[in-house]
Amino acid sequence: MLVNKPKIVILGAGYAGLTTVARLQKSISASEAEIILINKNDYHYETTWLHEASVGTLHHDRARYEIASVIKKNKVTFIKDDVVEIKKDEQKVILANSEVAYDYLVVAIGAVPETFGIKGLNEYAFMITNINGARKIREHIESQFAKYHDKDKKDPYITIVVGGAGFTGIEFLGELVNRVPELCKEYDVDPANVKILCVEAAPTVLPGFDEELVDYAVKLLKKKGVEFHIGTAIKECTETGIIVSKGEETEEIPAGTVIWAAGVRGNPIVENGGIETTRGRVKVDKDLRAPGESNIFVIGDSSLVINEENNRPYPPTAQIAMQQADTCAKNVKALLRGEQHLAAFKPDIKGSVCSLGEHDAIGLVFGKKLMGTPASLMKKVIDNRALFMVGGAPLVVKKGKFNIL
Ligand SMILES: Cc1cc2nc3c(=O)[nH]c(=O)nc-3n(C[C@H](O)[C@H](O)[C@H](O)COP(=O)(O)OP(=O)(O)OC[C@H]3O[C@@H](n4cnc5c(N)ncnc54)[C@H](O)[C@@H]3O)c2cc1C
Repeated sequence: MLVNKPKIVILGAGYAGLTTVARLQKSISASEAEIILINKNDYHYETTWLHEASVGTLHHDRARYEIASVIKKNKVTFIKDDVVEIKKDEQKVILANSEVAYDYLVVAIGAVPETFGIKGLNEYAFMITNINGARKIREHIESQFAKYHDKDKKDPYITIVVGGAGFTGIEFLGELVNRVPELCKEYDVDPANVKILCVEAAPTVLPGFDEELVDYAVKLLKKKGVEFHIGTAIKECTETGIIVSKGEETEEIPAGTVIWAAGVRGNPIVENGGIETTRGRVKVDKDLRAPGESNIFVIGDSSLVINEENNRPYPPTAQIAMQQADTCAKNVKALLRGEQHLAAFKPDIKGSVCSLGEHDAIGLVFGKKLMGTPASLMKKVIDNRALFMVGGAPLVVKKGKFNIL
């Protein structure tokens, strides 16, 4: 038994961090190293389910589980704390309440919303970021419906603007259009008075996705009441709505709720730690280490991996985060055992599915186009698989999605 065991410190218990821990606790012995996992909450949340919790179609407790329930306590020490700073020259991490030294560091603290400097977004828009963010959105939308009968100027309360027609924006809209009829019933609001707007600066919805599938999604969302403002940029967000520009024209749109879902950047803690970044994300080496760092791995949304086929970064996804975790765990173990050869990360993109509410979706999986129920079923399989990869069958039974009708 080593007296001073090497310390493997993992920052963040999201898809990337928790999967790394799940792999490491299986593959190394308790006497080989101490695994320390640090996360700001004592629970993990399924980030890919947050749009459902934000709208209220899924309770936020369904989208999270206790970290303690999936770690082996004889191998992993869990610290619930906020990471404040990475001091790589001193090989330690500063937390809000203590500090922790490391021999090997895995940085997996995800992303933060990218606001592109648009005025007022940080102050007035809501963002789908974590459990608390989701709770706030759900409660705010409900309170807007509740206020509808209060004053003469009713419309803005029940006007909801979604900024961004990427995956997150469209998945949020898919849930919202199903929730609105319930809210209307509950708060005695005429559905005809509810306005749902999607504002996107790019010329298309779901840029880069298959056209036929995009068309399916747009038609479905339009049918359920979404107004698309494509090629329209949000210039400012105010207390009472948004200011947009399309070409030369500027327009003010009153709204009671503005959701900003138009992009993410890496967590600033990484760049503040002196690790080289591009828009906050670390362009990692093939073995997933930060450039020039022999013992720091960066994975998940904090990292950037270039797709050699088109020389563009892969979009940050849970799929990549979990695959990186596999390679990262192997490489940490190899370093620990003094091996020279580290594995290269090769993304294996199986496809992507964008949900459009609980029972509808679009997807491209293993090169096959899916729409409607088959796509929605596939989405549930993917969600359940993510649970299985961390907590095995017991976690799937506890938290899985089985509502297929
Ligand atoms: C609504 C929505 C839908 C999505 N849908 C899909 C999808 O269908 N498919 C897909 O592949 N991807 C999807 N994504 C993207 C996917 O969720 C991310 O790419 C994925 O979560 C990245 O994993 P991660 O481990 O890097 O970060 P996260 O899962 O975000 O985890 C980061 C962890 O770090 C913790 N943390 C952050 N800062 C600190 C700190 N300072 N101190 C301590 N802990 C900290 C957080 O609490 C969290 O536990 C979606 C994202 C959203 C928002």
